[in-house]
Amino acid sequence: MDQKIIALYSAAISEAAKKAIEYIETLDDRSVFPEAIHLEQAKELGGKMPKFGTPPVEVISTLHKLGSPATVANMSGRYFGMVVGGSTPASVGASVLSSAWDQVAVSSMSSPIACQLESIASSWLLDLLSLPSQSSVGFTTGTTQANLICLAAAREHQYAAMGIDVSNCGIAGAQPLKIVLSEQAHITLKKSLRILGFGEQQVLTVPADEQGRINSSALPELDKSTILCLQAGNVNTGAFDNFEAITEIARPAGTWVHVDGAFGLWARASNKLKYLAKGASKANSWAVDCHKWLNTPYDCGLAICDTPTSVERVMHTQESYIPSTNAPQPKDFLLEFSRRARGVEVWATLSELGSEGVSELIERCCNHAKRTAIALRKLGFTVLNSVEINQVLARIGNDRDTARLVERVQQSGAFWFGTTQWHGHLAFRISFSSWATSDSDVDRLIACIESAI
Ligand SMILES: *Cc1c(COP(=O)(O)O)cnc(C)c1O
Repeated sequence: MDQKIIALYSAAISEAAKKAIEYIETLDDRSVFPEAIHLEQAKELGGKMPKFGTPPVEVISTLHKLGSPATVANMSGRYFGMVVGGSTPASVGASVLSSAWDQVAVSSMSSPIACQLESIASSWLLDLLSLPSQSSVGFTTGTTQANLICLAAAREHQYAAMGIDVSNCGIAGAQPLKIVLSEQAHITLKKSLRILGFGEQQVLTVPADEQGRINSSALPELDKSTILCLQAGNVNTGAFDNFEAITEIARPAGTWVHVDGAFGLWARASNKLKYLAKGASKANSWAVDCHKWLNTPYDCGLAICDTPTSVERVMHTQESYIPSTNAPQPKDFLLEFSRRARGVEVWATLSELGSEGVSELIERCCNHAKRTAIALRKLGFTVLNSVEINQVLARIGNDRDTARLVERVQQSGAFWFGTTQWHGHLAFRISFSSWATSDSDVDRLIACIESAI
């Protein structure tokens, strides 16, 4: 490479590293949610598309100057909205190195190292989550895509069992499948079903209990034309469906069981908490996010399936310019053809933490939640969930009091969590999923909530 080109990369990466470090170092001094003035200033990034270019270092320094103050401080450990997590040091570092590698993880022809790292990470993950070792693991953009892939495989498999090859004939004339969901199923799961041609009226919705677990006794008859979607970790309560009892009925009946375990499935990586997701390994497919509770950078989920051939039959992409191999190739288990090597950051995080470290991360977040729930009850709040994992769902007084409290906490800039609806009332939800949240952050969070009452 030309020395001038090398110098450009070197200057841009050095500047980015310097600014990224400065960003992390000053996180504690800033509001978790960006202030209005910073969002206003960030508008300067816009205007007309520039006609002429700007030197790379200048691009980075402008991005830092105007963009950094306008970010949500996910990495601070003080953000408890959605289930966001942060990114571990090794995963951020790996992301920088992997950007410089610029690998395209289509197949071992496009990047042998990307495939190798993803294959290593896959077997570590199956072990960590105690899932069947022959399962396929696709590194997706997140759980939305993972749900889509798993349900596409389920559709393929269930029709194949009925003697119908839907990849060939399509589903238009085929006998409809029975799709069974909990009323608490995540909205993105419904989106996946829509994309796959399962309309809302075709879906059988099963009521859930007080904590949001699917009501096992209200399940319709399950048979070999059924796809049943269960959940590990309700977004509000953190509750788990009863996998043990349900798979015992569903599997012998020939029903495909899919588990949406975006964050909750990680409980299986903890020695103390794995009992909560007991029996989940008896499902057929699982969707889980690395970018939530494993604390890798964004754009990373896993589509795991116990019968890899079902995924491959829908996702395969053979082209004459890609040599066929016996080894499974990423392109045949995912929606994308070209994509970045997401598994690199997963490998880095798993190497950094080890199985003990992942277990500790999960348990630490759950302990934060338990401690917060106890403190909230003492302060007169109603805690609405049984707080078995990382989610705390609570309210105070009426809807207006609850909304006002959340607003005051958000305005403090010290912490951020949001509201939700639970059984017809406004509640707030504090989600602990960041590697960086410390015991003293939790002490300060409780003090902040107390002063906002
Ligand atoms: C976050 C979440 C999803 C969607 O995952 P993305 O990674 O945001 O696509 C699906 N299901 C559950 C239970 C979730 O928490």
